[in-house]
Amino acid sequence: MSPITERIPDGLRHRLGSIRRAVEHRMAPRPRRLAGWAEPGTDPWTAQRTDGPHRCNICRWSGDAFGGPVHCEGAQCPRCGSIGRDRFLFWALQHAVTPPGPARRLRVLETSPRLDQRYRQAMAGWFDYLCSDFDERAHAGMIRIDLQDIDLPSDSVDVVLTPHVLEHVPDTGRALDELYRVLRPGGTLLLQVPVLQELTAPPAEPEFHGDHTPVFWRFGPALSDALTERGFAVTLLAPQPLLATAASGTSDVPWPQPVSPEFDVDGILRGLRRNRLRATSHDGSTAALRPELEPAVDADTAHHLGFEPAYMFLTWAARKPLPG
Ligand SMILES: [Zn+2]
Repeated sequence: MSPITERIPDGLRHRLGSIRRAVEHRMAPRPRRLAGWAEPGTDPWTAQRTDGPHRCNICRWSGDAFGGPVHCEGAQCPRCGSIGRDRFLFWALQHAVTPPGPARRLRVLETSPRLDQRYRQAMAGWFDYLCSDFDERAHAGMIRIDLQDIDLPSDSVDVVLTPHVLEHVPDTGRALDELYRVLRPGGTLLLQVPVLQELTAPPAEPEFHGDHTPVFWRFGPALSDALTERGFAVTLLAPQPLLATAASGTSDVPWPQPVSPEFDVDGILRGLRRNRLRATSHDGSTAALRPELEPAVDADTAHHLGFEPAYMFLTWAARKPLPG
């Protein structure tokens, strides 16, 4: 303590200390989320106002244009940094998961989220939120999880979001078994992987993604079968233009640009056309033979949210059935 502060009476010194802390608190840099997104009183199901042709369903930005190319890894939101596939996964959450009501918070586990701390803070405001990573070289979640051996109790999670992780896991079946185990009955797995081709196969050449993690599998639409074999009730979510093209049987494609060479679109369409299976309806009550490719985001909404071209956007909603 300095000689000057030694001469200040204790009561006054405490008061000066609290004033200093208040000033420091006021002057501290604020997280950007306080400047406009994840506002108190909103949740992912709150209707969004828009003032432009494009909008972000995560941070609720709207305006004239996303940044970067039209691509699942492009169309970047200028506010939160989400790219197309981030928003499609969030759209799947908004449409495949029922809001729990004010008395309950959903327990959400997200494996290896791509977005930054502002997103994680927002998710923690809406949910009992846990995020995980396994390879922690590029970024680290709140816990470390190996999807093949998840260190969480059975029936302990309402929703799992797993964006572009399963292709990095050697044993797909073991990972799906573990995801099924940790979900509560009635809970939902939202599973997003790159779908680049008709059939699931290991990469022909060693393949690594941007953060240097090895790719063990390149998946086709028949990943649905691996989910149903484990007891999941599966819906494959996709933009309507992709489903319409798959259903039409033509190759008269509505894509806005030349097809990206990394995607075997004809193969993906073949995979979708034969991927009809016995699926449980959305409310879990009836079984019927039908295309599993419903519900789909309509073409206008896909355009507004940046889910273009449609063949790049597939996400599985896999529900663990209630007993009986
Ligand atoms: Zn955004």
